[in-house]
Amino acid sequence: SADLAMYHSKEQGRNQLYFFEPGMQQRSLLRQQLESEMHLALSQQQFKLFFQPKVNNKGKLTGYEALLRWLHPERGMISPEQFIPVAETSGFITVLGQWILAEACNALKHLTDPQLTIAINVSKRQLQTPDFVAQTLLQIKTAGVKASRLEFEITESMLMTDVEQTRHKLQQLNQQGIRFALDDFGTGYSSLAFLKNVPIQVLKIDRSFVRDFLSDQTDYAIVDTIISMAKTLKLTVVAEGVETTEQFKMLSWLKCDLFQGFLFGKPAPGFCQPQPIEQLLTLPIADHPI
Ligand code: C2E
Ligand code: MG
Ligand code: MG
Ligand code: MG
Repeated sequence: SADLAMYHSKEQGRNQLYFFEPGMQQRSLLRQQLESEMHLALSQQQFKLFFQPKVNNKGKLTGYEALLRWLHPERGMISPEQFIPVAETSGFITVLGQWILAEACNALKHLTDPQLTIAINVSKRQLQTPDFVAQTLLQIKTAGVKASRLEFEITESMLMTDVEQTRHKLQQLNQQGIRFALDDFGTGYSSLAFLKNVPIQVLKIDRSFVRDFLSDQTDYAIVDTIISMAKTLKLTVVAEGVETTEQFKMLSWLKCDLFQGFLFGKPAPGFCQPQPIEQLLTLPIADHPI
């Protein structure tokens, strides 16, 4: 058909032709372009860590999550959702991941309150790198930061590939003080049984459940269940994507430990103080359950 465009795939074999729809070809080209630009981008300091505050139920700052941004000179700010998958496929994520950890360690030195932590997102391929543990511990030692101030966010699916090796890696890092959080919790298709034997300390409720849980009974049940389960397993539970005072109040009432979202602060290029809770709570709230 005339709608199909030809695309010669470099990765899949030199002499093969593949047929894609134009949209797909364009996406593919963008991926290729981003992939080839990433290396230079890193050396030209186009990558930057942004930080989003996390607070407890009193509104007190407990730490930040580091979120990567690509400040591209022509394309503007590129979302990690766009370029992290590209870096994963190409393998560049290992280099980028080391840079992220180095930056996070450096940031910790500027975060003088020793109670405050920084969480970084670790991708699947990074964790699968054979020398991930050794490399990580070396970097932390070189930077001279306390491992207990670092948290690594991983996802459920990462616990279900190379189960034994992954568990061992987590154990080794956990023994040195690094905490592990399960990000986007509830979105994976996992059984809960896997939580039993892995050194995970934190569950982060995915923001898709937080968004509508005040109006959607199913989401409410999921949020309620995750929090109760976290309590039973003695895990810290964090709500992602908290945007309204109503959400915060209800989540606090359900005994959620920590909160992260635009209500307290958006990801920013530095350590912004969270929006003070006293001010948030004095705002008029209609029909609040509490
Ligand atoms: P994530 O780790 O689940 O990060 C939370 C995402 O939710 C962030 O998007 C954050 O900006 C956004 N967010 C936080 N609060 C709110 C809120 O109240 N409302 C809404 N609508 N969104 C909120 P971001 O920064 O675009 O990152 C997207 C994903 O990209 C992250 O999801 C993470 O999986 C990945 N990512 C980000 N930085 C890194 C990194 O340094 N390394 C790796 N491997 N992945 C990263
Ligand atoms: Mg995260
Ligand atoms: Mg998340
Ligand atoms: Mg997410």
